[in-house]
Amino acid sequence: MLFMTQRQSMTTLTNLITQIDNVLPQTQCTRCSYPSCQKYAEALATGDAEINQCPPGGADGIAALAEILGKPILELNPDHGVFQTRKIALIEEDACIGCALCIKACPVDAIIGANKMLHTVIADECSGCDLCIPACPVDCISLIEDPNQDWNIERKSRARLRFDAQHARRDIERLERNARLAAQAELLKKVRTGGTTNSTNKSDTVSQETPTTQSEFLAQIMANAQQKNKNNL
Ligand code: SF4
Ligand code: SF4
Ligand code: SF4
Repeated sequence: MLFMTQRQSMTTLTNLITQIDNVLPQTQCTRCSYPSCQKYAEALATGDAEINQCPPGGADGIAALAEILGKPILELNPDHGVFQTRKIALIEEDACIGCALCIKACPVDAIIGANKMLHTVIADECSGCDLCIPACPVDCISLIEDPNQDWNIERKSRARLRFDAQHARRDIERLERNARLAAQAELLKKVRTGGTTNSTNKSDTVSQETPTTQSEFLAQIMANAQQKNKNNL
């Protein structure tokens, strides 16, 4: 009975989070002090945040949150910014050095380009979050008025999808990197075994440190190979 009650309240909480998230702008700008709209929705649903922390949502957004949560309407908390017209980022392409730091900063994959190539913003996908601006080392990104001020449900949904896809992709990359490091550590263990069999002098043995990055791994493989050659002379 208790289990059912807990499950029911979890379902109610999940539904409430979804309902809240659906009225949030999905710019993923972090101005609410949460890393995503979804996280702000979760904090609102559990009573850990106020309804007046999202500048991109405008006064209508605060009113919608007040209605869902049965709370009085509040003024926007200025600690989180001000209401403003929609902006999008523009890259001054002649000044771009192709460092790709803006791509890493963009939460909705609205920038295209590759290392050492100039980068450009996909205007219709840019949420105006401005997170790419401090990331640019040569200050060649600025915000301009979005010619399409209609941040409609379709653009919001695309921003959410792109944000979720980016996180899923980064999770996979992290898992692949960990798997690669584990395989390399295993290989290194075999190299070490071979490197220590003929040695009697402790200083002649290969390193037993466990590498934590790919470059450390490669450096250690090189050092072990050199030590092995020395021992075999
Ligand atoms: S739009 Fe920005 S401020 Fe509003 S909930 Fe999303 S991340 Fe927070
Ligand atoms: S291009 Fe810049 S402003 Fe636009 S969504 Fe990406 S990080 Fe935000
Ligand atoms: S951060 Fe600036 S310089 Fe680097 S790729 Fe982006 S726009 Fe170009």
